[in-house]
Amino acid sequence: MDERGCMLDVVLAPGRDRSVRRRHPWLLSGAVAHVSGDPAPGDWVRVVSAEGEALGFGHFAPASQIRVRLLAFGKEPPGDACLADRIAVASARRAADPLLAGTDAVRLANAEGDGLPGLVVDRYADALVVRCSGAGMSARAPLVTQALREATGARSGFRRDDAAAARRDGFEPVQQVLWGPTPPRPLVVRERGRRYEIDLEHGQKTGFYLDQRDARDLVQRLAPGRRVLDLFSYTGGFAVAAALGGASSVTLVDSSASALATARRNFAANAIAIEPRLVEGDGFQFVRRDDAGYDLLVLDPPPLARRKSDVARASRAHKDLLLHALRRAMPGAFILAFSCSHAIDATLFRQIAFGACLDAGRDAQVIATLSAPSDHPVSIDHPEGTYLSGLVLRV
Ligand code: SAH
Repeated sequence: MDERGCMLDVVLAPGRDRSVRRRHPWLLSGAVAHVSGDPAPGDWVRVVSAEGEALGFGHFAPASQIRVRLLAFGKEPPGDACLADRIAVASARRAADPLLAGTDAVRLANAEGDGLPGLVVDRYADALVVRCSGAGMSARAPLVTQALREATGARSGFRRDDAAAARRDGFEPVQQVLWGPTPPRPLVVRERGRRYEIDLEHGQKTGFYLDQRDARDLVQRLAPGRRVLDLFSYTGGFAVAAALGGASSVTLVDSSASALATARRNFAANAIAIEPRLVEGDGFQFVRRDDAGYDLLVLDPPPLARRKSDVARASRAHKDLLLHALRRAMPGAFILAFSCSHAIDATLFRQIAFGACLDAGRDAQVIATLSAPSDHPVSIDHPEGTYLSGLVLRV
């Protein structure tokens, strides 16, 4: 807005209107010819073609490569009210989604996937974690908070921003209780008969990998009688599922001592009789050096390709991981291999797996492909929202 409260324009360079006309929610800095006035981070701006046609409206980020996060297309400014409406819709969709039955840990708002760029909200039992990665959402935090309280009735809310994204988008990351009592410690969620302890304040992401829920179900069903390796285990999401499913042994490997300590408590909370083997260390090294045999292996490394230029190196790392995992895999073993980088898509990931099997001299069947579940929707306009690719191999 300028000093009279008028919305400022972001004017596109000639011929750079294609992505906005195709409803892509990111306007990249290279497409911008000039900006009328000096909008603050998070201000509403109107996006205008070089010929002066209004194409859409979004939140401005003066220093980010994503200069405008678009929330509406066409000539009508949506106004702040659209945020509350979309939060209500996103929440109602989760409540009505049969694929999300049986759990009290759900992603309520998935950024662009729910028409809410710059905002992720996860629900853990009676507490919400609000994660802003866009200046526009940060600037409207009170409105977002109010809308979330009304839509969900959650007892407490905790804000925990993505610090790197905040730096890029030009706002101060916030970590604070938004409303209600401080969530209980430990906070335990129940997911389809499994119990997991969540650390809202210090855990990775917002505390848990909600995106692997359906893969945990699958591991539980594949586990009976199997020796299981959960590589990059975090707090043991997969290992607990495998043990509850009847695994004969479980080995967890992670570089985070605190994640493994939580994993140990998760085994106790689920009254699991077998003693897990917990290994604190480098997962890439472990799988090279270990000489045990396994019948079910889960390979879920952190994102290895944050940008396109990382793809070649990341592909080698994924291939290496799978190659060594194949050497540890007993005949008839199942391997669940994941990539969580958008830059490595499902097709490339399958080629990587093919290369690893060739090098290992192992024949393998693809028996399923996996992706993030329905509480992580991807807008059809925004393919960049896809990031999780999983393969289930039988060797
Ligand atoms: N499988 C987990 C999520 C894994 S996320 C789940 O479903 O909950 C990736 C994990 O890898 C994190 O827990 C992180 O601590 C761990 N990590 C990162 N680099 C690592 C490395 N080099 N060796 C072992 N663990 C690593």
